[in-house]
Amino acid sequence: MIRKAEAVVLKTINQGETSKIATLYTREFGRLKIIAKGIRSKKSRYMGLLGITQHIQLVFYEKHNTELQLFKSGEIVRTYNALNQDFDRLAFAQVAMEFIERTAEKTEPHPELFDLVVWILTHLNDPDIPAVKCYWYFHLRCLCELGFRPDVFRCHQCKRTFSRAEAVYHQPDGGVYCVTCSPTLDERFSLRLSPTVMSLLQAIDAEEWGVVKKTSPALADRRTIWSFIWHYSKVHLEPLQRMKSLAVLEQIYRGGH
Ligand SMILES: [Zn+2]
Repeated sequence: MIRKAEAVVLKTINQGETSKIATLYTREFGRLKIIAKGIRSKKSRYMGLLGITQHIQLVFYEKHNTELQLFKSGEIVRTYNALNQDFDRLAFAQVAMEFIERTAEKTEPHPELFDLVVWILTHLNDPDIPAVKCYWYFHLRCLCELGFRPDVFRCHQCKRTFSRAEAVYHQPDGGVYCVTCSPTLDERFSLRLSPTVMSLLQAIDAEEWGVVKKTSPALADRRTIWSFIWHYSKVHLEPLQRMKSLAVLEQIYRGGH
């Protein structure tokens, strides 16, 4: 059966002399794997279509007895040129694409998640917006969509509201604790979240991108947010423990996102 989908290319690998296998995230079918036969041949009119981060309209043959669908044709909706020409921004985009590849359900549509994929590409493509802020926002919004929303409003133990005060993240159980409850935690696995970090995490939770965009946290706070989002995610989403593109990004920044 011939199907149409709006898709973003998450990952590609070359197959044989001229073919390509691509993992896509689609609005209509969730995560999808396709083989595009002959697409790398000079004669193919679709040669540049299946590049990572490319936003496309796809036509494919749906087969029910295999995980690999067959590419028929496609056209570009948007190429994120500014992003693709900036090595740092591309490194963030690759982490975002791998995050979706590892966590999104295959064949299960999730339009809100698809919108977040397009959102991060559009925002990383704007050189005036700090890439790391786009990434924090994307990552935490995805966790909410995937059902792993960290509670940054109430203490994991006493359930009191944090307001905008300091808190402590405890890695073994993935909980955020108020300062009063924190002495019971193992300090070796605890991360102090400053009032600035807490207000940023709460703004992201409330989908206040305008607030996140305006806030300029110090380097120590930026590092804390980075540690928090990854430690938390790896506790809750096991496939993220095998992220490959993250090492590249962390080499660029050496922990100083
Ligand atoms: Zn408490």
